[in-house]
Amino acid sequence: MKQIDWGKLTFSYTPTDKIIRCSYKDGKWSELYSTSDMNITIHAAAAALQYAQQAFEGLKAYRGVDGVIRLFRPYENARRLNDSARAMYMAELPEETFVEACRMCIRENIDYLPPYGTGATLYLRPILIGTTPKVGVAPAHEFEFMVIGTPIGPYFPAGFGTTPFIINRHVDRAAPRGTGQYKVGGNYAASFRATEPAHEKGLGVLFLDSKEHQYIDECGGANFIGVRDGVYVTPLSESILPSIINRSLRTLCHDFDIDVEERKIPVQELNYFQEAAAVGTGAAISPISRIIDPDLNTTYEYGEAPGPVCCRLFHALRDIQFGRAEDKHNWNEIIKN
Ligand SMILES: *Cc1c(COP(=O)(O)O)cnc(C)c1O
Repeated sequence: MKQIDWGKLTFSYTPTDKIIRCSYKDGKWSELYSTSDMNITIHAAAAALQYAQQAFEGLKAYRGVDGVIRLFRPYENARRLNDSARAMYMAELPEETFVEACRMCIRENIDYLPPYGTGATLYLRPILIGTTPKVGVAPAHEFEFMVIGTPIGPYFPAGFGTTPFIINRHVDRAAPRGTGQYKVGGNYAASFRATEPAHEKGLGVLFLDSKEHQYIDECGGANFIGVRDGVYVTPLSESILPSIINRSLRTLCHDFDIDVEERKIPVQELNYFQEAAAVGTGAAISPISRIIDPDLNTTYEYGEAPGPVCCRLFHALRDIQFGRAEDKHNWNEIIKN
């Protein structure tokens, strides 16, 4: 294992040894291979560079309390990447190839998989891009699939805590029938002008629906959830990414007899939640302390400490991911080293 101060890692990229790759050409995918060259050579006119023909995924490998390596629900990411691929007019990848590439990426970078107890994990970033040179507006017919890995620190180094958010009504991350429900880089490029100024002030951004700006949509790169009188509420929208963590938390709610509602959430309803959080792979659950609404000159308060439902769900999910609790829904893919 590498000499790394695991607890001090952040979410930024720490170099690892190997990238896993395969190429699509003449209608078929090549074998997966591993290389230590992290630079990829593509034509300057590649469709990914000209027209953002690209999609990605994000998932984490956990070293468990029992030393076992677990990858959380990778087949769900494989399916979602193919949803994005179809939407971006890219070749789909066999699910097994996707998951095998993730396994290879873990094994070949095993020295970077953080030890148990540090809270750190190995983050995997699968990427699919169109590589055919294109200047006329058209999709590629050659593609490159890659998986890179990087160790990332505990999301809550100072313990499970809260973050403040701000509503932005002036920038939309995705159009009503655009690409909001797909995991594509373009959605992020389009939202930096909202997220960066907020991050400089230590705030996350809460986006509203881009048609009426009346309903809660997406929390930057995570789904929104609220807890109202013991009910777990999450937005129904055509432009949010179907989060695998959100889906998993809803299953846990079912196990715990917590009711779940997936429906439109009017901004005014923020007044009625006792808890609010952003959910996704990075933090699992990132509880929200308050949501500032600068246009309405108001702030919705949820407290500086995470609420009981967030705490219960967070610990239940982490216990499964780190092998401390029974994985009764078969979410963990065990990685044999
Ligand atoms: C990746 C992502 C999420 C979270 O999805 P998970 O599968 O739970 O990690 C939510 N929203 C956006 C915009 C995302 O890109």
